[in-house]
Amino acid sequence: MSVPYADLTAQYLSIKSEIDKAIQDCIDQTAFIGGSVIKEFEEDFAQYAGANFCVGCANGTDAIEIALKALGVGPGDEVLVPALTWISTAGAVNNIGAEPVFVDVLEDQRTIDPALIEAKITDRTKAIIPVHLYGLPARMSEIMQIANKHGLKVIEDSAQAHGAEIDGKRIGSFGQIATYSFYPGKNLGAYGDAGGITTNDEELAKTCKMITNHGQLKKHNHQIIGRNSRLDTIQAAILKAKLPHLGEWTEKRIAHAKKYFQLLSAVKTPAIPEGYKHVFHVFAIQSQTRDEVKELLDQAGVGNAVHYPNPLPLVPSYAYKGHQSGEFPVSEKLCAEILSIPMFAEMTETQIEEVASIINQL
Ligand SMILES: *Cc1c(COP(=O)(O)O)cnc(C)c1O
Repeated sequence: MSVPYADLTAQYLSIKSEIDKAIQDCIDQTAFIGGSVIKEFEEDFAQYAGANFCVGCANGTDAIEIALKALGVGPGDEVLVPALTWISTAGAVNNIGAEPVFVDVLEDQRTIDPALIEAKITDRTKAIIPVHLYGLPARMSEIMQIANKHGLKVIEDSAQAHGAEIDGKRIGSFGQIATYSFYPGKNLGAYGDAGGITTNDEELAKTCKMITNHGQLKKHNHQIIGRNSRLDTIQAAILKAKLPHLGEWTEKRIAHAKKYFQLLSAVKTPAIPEGYKHVFHVFAIQSQTRDEVKELLDQAGVGNAVHYPNPLPLVPSYAYKGHQSGEFPVSEKLCAEILSIPMFAEMTETQIEEVASIINQL
């Protein structure tokens, strides 16, 4: 029995009438740019994320760029980012003219290692971008302590962790600002590109909003240099329709993960620190014989992926920094050993058992 890596069709069919209506309403009202549904989604998502404000934008990568700009980070500044993350976390830093500085991650949690941060701080360091990778919160209390001690801003890249928590507190509420992606495959996904920024700081929210719309809050009133990174109206309507289901979908992912924990015996499964709520955007197993596991799954028609094949310091676009293999040992080991296996809310018990039994053949 083949099992897909994710199944966006199953999710759509489970809420088809709500989605179809949300899209049709936009068309009926010819509401394609702007419109009340954007504000409604922003308010709903802010509430979901435990933040005072949410600003929608075009995608999760723009969200990071906009957050950095709004915090006043720019050319000449350095920003600390984990060596293991999706390329956007670092690329956004380059794209505002600042320099990403890579920090290795913790092997068990796969998030930025707080013990390695201080050695990378210079007098040019302005901010840290912890990433809640795969859906597990980064170690925010240690990170905030270091950031506060050195006067650094913290942007939580929450693209993979909608609804994750530490001790009952939603991620995104630890740093000054948090960024989200609503790429279709994310835990809350649109039907195209979309992103968002949350913060408790009203001024910061206003600045972000201005940046997303040509530096204006009112038409032809350009206060700062901005750009066009507006949240698309149809995407906002879809996200608003999907958001009420996110809690249930997240609980299902967690239940599926529990089942994997029970069944998987031949490989290492994700470690979750006490008090941390992992929302399993990705269920990444770890094995020294990763390529054999991958081969078994490929042969059985079970979807899988490597997140990510290389630590960012070693990808060609960062060759200019001159990093050598061996400088980020934990990220390098993880890139060689991790494998993401099927994880989506609509998975059935049978599918989970099938995936586990194939991996256990190892
Ligand atoms: C998906 C993702 C992004 C970027 O989101 P897009 O909407 O694809 O631009 C940023 N950071 C991380 C960690 C991501 O997983």
